[in-house]
Amino acid sequence: MTKRYAEVWDLGSIFAGGTSGSPAFQQHLRETKEAVSGLEQAVEDVKKAGDERSETWAGLLVRAQEIGKYVREASAFVSCLTAQNVKDEEAKILSGEVKAISAAYQTVMTAIDEQLLAFTDEQWQALTSEPAMAEISYNLNERRERAEEKLPADKEQLIQQLSVDGYQAWGDMYNEIVGRMSVPIDEDGQTKHLSVGQAANKLSDPARDTREHVFQRLEETWGKETDLFANTLNHLAGFRLTTYEARGWSDVLYEPLTINRMQSETLDVMWETITENKPAFTAYLERKAALLGVDQLAMHDISAPLTDASRMIPFDDAADLIVTQFRKFSPKMADFAQHAFDHAWIEAEDRDGKRPGGFCTTFPLKEESRIFMTYDGSASNVATLAHELGHAYHQMVMNDLPQMAQKYAMNVAETASTFAEMIVADAAVKQAETAEEKIQLLDNKLNRSIAFFMNIHARFLFETRFYEERKQGIVREERLNELMTKAQKEAYCEMLSDYSPTFWASKLHFHITAVPFYNFPYTFGYLFSMGIYRRAAEEGAAFENSYIDLLRDTGRMQVEDLAAKHLDADLTGKEFWQQAIDFVKEDVDTFMAMTAEKAAHN
Ligand SMILES: [Zn+2]
Repeated sequence: MTKRYAEVWDLGSIFAGGTSGSPAFQQHLRETKEAVSGLEQAVEDVKKAGDERSETWAGLLVRAQEIGKYVREASAFVSCLTAQNVKDEEAKILSGEVKAISAAYQTVMTAIDEQLLAFTDEQWQALTSEPAMAEISYNLNERRERAEEKLPADKEQLIQQLSVDGYQAWGDMYNEIVGRMSVPIDEDGQTKHLSVGQAANKLSDPARDTREHVFQRLEETWGKETDLFANTLNHLAGFRLTTYEARGWSDVLYEPLTINRMQSETLDVMWETITENKPAFTAYLERKAALLGVDQLAMHDISAPLTDASRMIPFDDAADLIVTQFRKFSPKMADFAQHAFDHAWIEAEDRDGKRPGGFCTTFPLKEESRIFMTYDGSASNVATLAHELGHAYHQMVMNDLPQMAQKYAMNVAETASTFAEMIVADAAVKQAETAEEKIQLLDNKLNRSIAFFMNIHARFLFETRFYEERKQGIVREERLNELMTKAQKEAYCEMLSDYSPTFWASKLHFHITAVPFYNFPYTFGYLFSMGIYRRAAEEGAAFENSYIDLLRDTGRMQVEDLAAKHLDADLTGKEFWQQAIDFVKEDVDTFMAMTAEKAAHN
């Protein structure tokens, strides 16, 4: 049978040749470099001349955003090159060049920010009233407010400089140690030494003995290094807390909430509503234990498969399924996905030498996206494909907005992707050919809910408590283990037979320096998207335009305002969250009904 859709993406339509040797890309790099240094010169000249006229600065801001698109176009291309072939040495060199250009661009932006802060209120009024600034007034105000809340520019610059060795270095050190670790796994009478990533993959093995063995060996391996990781974590947190103190920020959640453009009331009420609804999900965990024939689930049982009833779905069929299901919710989204399949926007081929994982990246000048993944035909692969198409669609509806207004935070970044994924995952459940297959697909979906409601809740509880204790001094490794176990017991409602005390060491997210509190935005995004999905399921295709309007505003509103404007919902009240959770609970009900008999026999 001939294939209808290409499984290898077309990069040549972006830069002729489509490889790391593309002369067209070289040309683009040269132009971008020149544009950045031209802007740098222009900003310097304007500053030197003492020109503070609003039209001058509006002009510079327009130009800076345009150049931002050039930089992004370049970095998107190299990320495609390095992903499709990890051995492409030429691409690695190009990647270094793009990083340098990008850093130079950031420096110019900082120089611009300095001036934004220096303007008097009157000048500020004039600038934000410039016609070209209307669509980015939220973003400009946000830039200025964030700069105002920090220390004077020279002090912030010093912090930035010190952070290279005193902060980011701890994150790098963490990665360095993890990279050297190896986990001894007994397999077929031999002991194999696996990387922690390879070993972790075996935690979803259908055989319980294997999972148990791997889990224990992982805990032991992490346990050997916790003295070092207690150092990296304490110092990283110490640097962050000292910086907060200097800026006068007493609440450790202040920065993460600001970055995610949300209020603390919203975060509190979200967790509160989740906690109230946990009994439904603990019932699911109990049922799963019964189905697996154990008294209580262990940590490694949670995502264990219940059956091996899985169907392989060829890529062409997955494409048809996605387009058909999207159409029920939004013809525009369906047409968009069809266009992506027809024009080879997706790199899906299952071959050696590709980077693991999946992503979606955008070329703002070409106004096209590319999706990267390795498609092997599983149901979760189909969901991933839909997920990445959701990201691409989100970008597409924002294409005509100024660059600054396109920047959305982590908590809303997953809105369109989760939405698209839900459409397809739900359809798969409905179309399951056997009860067994349907149960497995529901179990996959509920696994995700458990991750967002319990696993990430544990991370959040641990991290807030750890930072509070860290304010008083170093928190020793035994205490870190204790805090983690306590957080997990609480988040999982004491439903598990064992916990992972060293999770604070094994979870990379606690050691990420780019963003603080890399946890609650995930849960927010999941439920926010569920709330939208529930609305869309009710309203059908009529919801399409409201959905597009909502997506277009994700880069230029506080989340509470976004929900009030487009969903008529109050995120600081329980109702929205409860309705979103009720929607997830429908899956629990179906799962419980379908497995009642089977569980009774076990
Ligand atoms: Zn995503």
